[in-house]
Amino acid sequence: MQIVDTHCHLDEESFSQELDDVVAASVENGVVAMVTIGTSVESSRRAIELAERFPGVVFAAVGIHPNYTAAAKPGDWEIIEELAQDPRVVAVGETGLDRYWDYAPIELQQDYFDRHLKLSEQTAKPFIVHCRDADEETRTQLRATAESGQKLNGVMHSFCQSAESAAELLQLGMFMSFTGMLTFKRNQELRDLAASLPADRLFVETDAPYLAPMPNRGKRNEPAFTRFTLECLAECHGVAPEEMARQTTANACGFFEIELSDR
Ligand SMILES: [Zn+2]
Repeated sequence: MQIVDTHCHLDEESFSQELDDVVAASVENGVVAMVTIGTSVESSRRAIELAERFPGVVFAAVGIHPNYTAAAKPGDWEIIEELAQDPRVVAVGETGLDRYWDYAPIELQQDYFDRHLKLSEQTAKPFIVHCRDADEETRTQLRATAESGQKLNGVMHSFCQSAESAAELLQLGMFMSFTGMLTFKRNQELRDLAASLPADRLFVETDAPYLAPMPNRGKRNEPAFTRFTLECLAECHGVAPEEMARQTTANACGFFEIELSDR
């Protein structure tokens, strides 16, 4: 099985001591590629360093997370614009809106979201959206961007919104990516919704070190655990894990323009 973990944070402190082992364990568990996501200038730089250290396995995304927009210094955005040109960078983000935490005013988050959307268009690299308790505002901004003539090439990371939201996001051309939240016992509604979504628009991810799937819930998450979410998504769709892996990996490779090395 070949799986792509489309969203993880390998630069986090909790991985620093044993990253070689974490990456090796991922590959052993079928996770042949992973996208490590920048959340600030420093984290985006580290993401590129990791892509350099694990060529063909780790890929980078660069951006300023909505919760870190207020902490961004003058000049930080220009650095992100520059880093986005790097050939090891396969996407822009994570960006989006977050009303759950109160780290940055929503207007500032919207401003940065807009910058990432423009940067995605300029670089022809896809964008990654974080959306927490801000479904309406996120869709409004994506809709306005589409109406301005930009073809949306983006993914809703850790998708957990409503059926109504999913319907509009699909219509706007967005992809949906599922984390371990799909496997949590109480999330039957999310599994029912996942079952109804077209398989050619879906990805799987870990968001490691956060959101570990069942049966590892509560532990530090790592890309090797992507397969639990993949198996759950396959079950939702009534297909074999191998089939869901083939489909979601083809989706992710097309989206990020990643070529898997033969092994
Ligand atoms: Zn993330």
